[in-house]
Amino acid sequence: MHKKILIIGGGMAGLSAGTYLQMNGFDTEIFELNQVPGGVCTSWKRGDYTVDWCIHWLVGSGSSDSFYDRWSELINMSQIEIVDHEEYAAVEDAAGNLLHLYTNLDRLEAELLEKAPEDEKKISEFVRACRKLCDLNLPNDQPFELANLWRKMRLMWKMLPYLGVLGKYSRISTIDYSKGFKNPLLRKAVANLFEPEIPILFCMMTFAWMHKKAAGYPVGGSMHFARRIADRYEHLGGVFHYGTRVEKIEVEAGCATGIRLADGAILRGDIVISAADGHSTLYDMLDGKFISPKFEEFYNRNETFPSLVFVALGVGRSFHATPHSYLFHLSSPFEIDPQTVLNDLYIRVHNFDPTLAPYGKTLITSMIETRNWEYWVNLQKNDLVRYAAEKQRIAQTLIDILEDKFGNVRDLVEMTDVTTPATIIGFTNNWKGSFEGWLLTPETGFTQLPSTLPGLDNFYMCGHWVAVGGGLPAAMISGRNVAQLICAKENIQFEICEPV
Ligand SMILES: Cc1cc2nc3c(=O)[nH]c(=O)nc-3n(C[C@H](O)[C@H](O)[C@H](O)COP(=O)(O)OP(=O)(O)OC[C@H]3O[C@@H](n4cnc5c(N)ncnc54)[C@H](O)[C@@H]3O)c2cc1C
Repeated sequence: MHKKILIIGGGMAGLSAGTYLQMNGFDTEIFELNQVPGGVCTSWKRGDYTVDWCIHWLVGSGSSDSFYDRWSELINMSQIEIVDHEEYAAVEDAAGNLLHLYTNLDRLEAELLEKAPEDEKKISEFVRACRKLCDLNLPNDQPFELANLWRKMRLMWKMLPYLGVLGKYSRISTIDYSKGFKNPLLRKAVANLFEPEIPILFCMMTFAWMHKKAAGYPVGGSMHFARRIADRYEHLGGVFHYGTRVEKIEVEAGCATGIRLADGAILRGDIVISAADGHSTLYDMLDGKFISPKFEEFYNRNETFPSLVFVALGVGRSFHATPHSYLFHLSSPFEIDPQTVLNDLYIRVHNFDPTLAPYGKTLITSMIETRNWEYWVNLQKNDLVRYAAEKQRIAQTLIDILEDKFGNVRDLVEMTDVTTPATIIGFTNNWKGSFEGWLLTPETGFTQLPSTLPGLDNFYMCGHWVAVGGGLPAAMISGRNVAQLICAKENIQFEICEPV
C-alpha cells in the first residue's frame, strides 16, 4: 500500500505536489486555510466584476517553451484560451511622451531606436541578449539532486551556448542596468520592468518568452486557472480540506509523523510536505528546531518580494484603446502609507479578458508595492475605522487620477475593492505579506533552497519560499520536484499520467 502524504497549503506548489503524487499512487490530502484553492494565484467576485489578482503572464502558456510540457502534464493546455499581448507595457513621461515596450523583438528594437536613437548601442545589446535567450529552454523535468553525472554533463553541454549571457546579465540588477541608457524615458522604462533589484537577465528572459509566445495570459484569470489544477487533483483522487489551518508539524524521533490543526486535531501521515509560507513552517510549525545555519543565514540576510496595496475598480465603459499595462507620471505625489509615496502610477486595464467585466465595461487594477506591511497590519488590528477610511481614500485618489487622465470615469465607477498587506497576510499567511516569496537578486542568483531539513526525515518543503524568485512555473516545478524526490526515496518509477 502506498504511503499517506499530508500537504500543508493548496497554492500552486501544494496542488502540483499533490497532483503528481496522486499520479504515482500516493494517498494525499491537502490542508488549506482558505475556502478556495490557488493561494496567491487567485481572483474574486465583486458584484458583476471579477477582480483578477495574480497572473500577468504565465511562462509556458505556449508550446514553444518546455514549461508548456510541464503544465500539460497537469491540465489540458489546449483548452485554455491564451492572450499574447502585443506589448509588455507602455511607459509615459511627464511631458506625455509614450514608449511602447513591444513583445515582438523586431518591433521593440525599432520602437526603442526611433524614440531613443542616442542609445543605439545599448538597445542593440539588450535586444541581442533577448534574442539569444529565445532558444533557451530551462531544464525542468528532473530535480538536480536526482540527475546522475551523465545527465549533469548533458545539462551543462546544453547550457554551454548561453553561459556568457546568463553569467553577464544575472550579475547586474535591473536598476543598475537602466542607468546605462541616456534617454530618460527609456531609462525609466527599463528601471520599471520589474523589481529594481532583480537581475536584468530575468527581464530579458521575459521578453524572450513573450516574443516566442510562451508567456501569455490565460483568459478567465487566475482562479479559473488554479481551479483547473485543483479539479485535476481531485479527479485523481486527492482530498482537499478547505478552511483548515495547520498549527504544528508533529515530530517524533527526528521524523515528521503528522500535523496538528488549529482545532487541536492531530492527523497522522507517513510524509508531510509544507507548501505553505516558509517562515511560519520553520519557525512556528516546527518551532525553529530544524534550521541549519545556512538556512538561518539565508532568512536573516535576504530580502522578500514586497507586499502590495491592490486597488480594483469596475468602470461602466470600455477602454479598448488604452494600453493594458500602463505606467504614467502623476501630476502630484500619491501617498499610499507613511513610507510609500508614488510619483508614477502603474495600472492594468483588463480590456483583454471579457470574462472579468460585463460587456462594454472594464476592470482596472493597480498593483502598488509597499514594504510597510507592519503599518497596515497594525492599522487593521488597532483602528478598523481608519483602516477602512484609508482604503477608501486610496480608491478615491485612484478614481480622481483616472478621471484626470482619461475623463468620463468618476461617475461610471460601479465597483471598488482595496486589499492591503494585512489582507495578504490574513488570506495567505505569506511572511511580511510578500506577494512572491524570496526576491531574486544578483546576490541570491537563481538558487533553490533545499526542500529537506537537516535532522528531520519524512518532511519536504516546496513553493516560492524554496524556489527563490517565485512565480507560478517555479512553484509548480518545486512541487513536481518534491514528488520526484519522494518517488525516488520510495523506489517508485516517477510516472506522468497526462489529462485526457
Ligand atoms: C499580485 C500577484 C501577481 C503575480 N503575478 C505573477 C505572474 O504574472 N506570473 C507568475 O508566474 N507569478 C506571479 N505571481 C507569483 C505567483 O503567483 C506565486 O509565486 C505562486 O503562485 C506561489 O505559489 P505557492 O504555492 O508557492 O504559494 P502560495 O500561493 O502562497 O500558497 C501557499 C498556500 O498555503 C496556505 N497556507 C499558508 N499557511 C497555512 C497553514 N498554516 N495551514 C494551511 N494552509 C496554509 C495559503 O493559504 C496558500 O494557499 C504573482 C503573485 C501575486 C500575489
